[in-house]
Amino acid sequence: MKILVINCGSSSLKYQLIDMDHETVIAKGLCERIGIAGSKLTHTPAGKDKVVVEKDMPNHKVAIQLVMDALQDPNHGVIKSTDEISAIGHRVLHGGMKFYKSTVVTEEVKQVIRECFDLGPLHNPANLMGIEACEAAMPGKPNVAVFDTAFGMSMPEKAYKYAIPEEYFEKYSIRRYGFHGTSHMFVSGEAIKFGNLDPEKAKVIVCHLGNGASVSASIGGKCVDTSMGLTPLEGLIMGTRSGDIDPAVLQFIMNKEGIDINEMLTILNKKSGVLGMSGGVSSDFRDIETAAKEGNHLAEVALEAFFYRVTKYIGAYTAAMNGVDAIAFTAGVGENDKNARKKICENLAFMGVKIDDEANDVRGERRVISAPDSAVKVMLIPTNEELAIARDTLALVHE
Ligand code: AMP
Repeated sequence: MKILVINCGSSSLKYQLIDMDHETVIAKGLCERIGIAGSKLTHTPAGKDKVVVEKDMPNHKVAIQLVMDALQDPNHGVIKSTDEISAIGHRVLHGGMKFYKSTVVTEEVKQVIRECFDLGPLHNPANLMGIEACEAAMPGKPNVAVFDTAFGMSMPEKAYKYAIPEEYFEKYSIRRYGFHGTSHMFVSGEAIKFGNLDPEKAKVIVCHLGNGASVSASIGGKCVDTSMGLTPLEGLIMGTRSGDIDPAVLQFIMNKEGIDINEMLTILNKKSGVLGMSGGVSSDFRDIETAAKEGNHLAEVALEAFFYRVTKYIGAYTAAMNGVDAIAFTAGVGENDKNARKKICENLAFMGVKIDDEANDVRGERRVISAPDSAVKVMLIPTNEELAIARDTLALVHE
């Protein structure tokens, strides 16, 4: 059985065709600059060279059609007809308060995705365009929406409520939702399996450390807290996002600089994080590490502050769950940067965390990286959001 996974951005579309009998990728690709001059599709069939198709893509509907053509192309295609695709799984950013789990797309589901446009203004409209483009290209084929916010919906009220007047929750559903949910769900689930932990009771902390970064705490695979909030701005220091900040800082800077709230939020989302703290060195952690090694003090502080905040969140979530059985690292930094994993774990020695330097000397491979006598299992679990989406899609179309 083959599942097509679609992840639409406002001007991009990523896809993977996955053979679910073996959970292997048959082909993957990316449409870039949709609606902008110079659009192109890069298609990579498994084990073969990539093919670049430069064609106008005025909208997502045309992009999907080009993807269908690439998948069925006599030379670089991987299927004879779209009949071979059983269902399509879509990453959808925001499901608001309505969706606690993935769901088969109906007109009502599309309406809720629409109602959540103001909660996910950049992503939800693009996600809906992707769904409608697939409906048009493959009529009658089931589409499944996999929400990035669904994992966070199991948080208890004490974790998801902001300490602001209740009327804003009631009127506007202002609460903490959390993001990277598909990754946290996948990695926490895999950590339980891989670590032989109790599937009902295991207390797991997942550190998704990439350009966007977040931490989650889950018990038995159910999220009890996560670091991102109403938007992905809350929580850790990220590539370009500030993470947690005193809101009064906004008012202070806005008054001094004479800027409005939109400009201020652009600064917090796009110009802060390690990019801002390092005085503009880079949002890329590799560049920050190189600059720090070369003696750039600001880059050094940015890196230390990043590690420090991750460590604080792990400590807080351990207390919140009254213990932790496993800590799992994932995403670009978490999977590739042994130094980051070591630094973060060093301050957790008080709770019996012991990294095994030899085991930790690894990139992108599923592995236990703690010492055998560590009180907490520390693991590297590469994330695979596409596979998680495909698994949910398959489960729903089999129901
Ligand atoms: P992601 O958003 O998950 O794709 O992660 C992107 C981030 O991972 C970028 O900031 C990269 O610099 C970082 N990254 C990738 N490889 C490494 C590495 N070997 N060491 C440090 N950071 C890395």
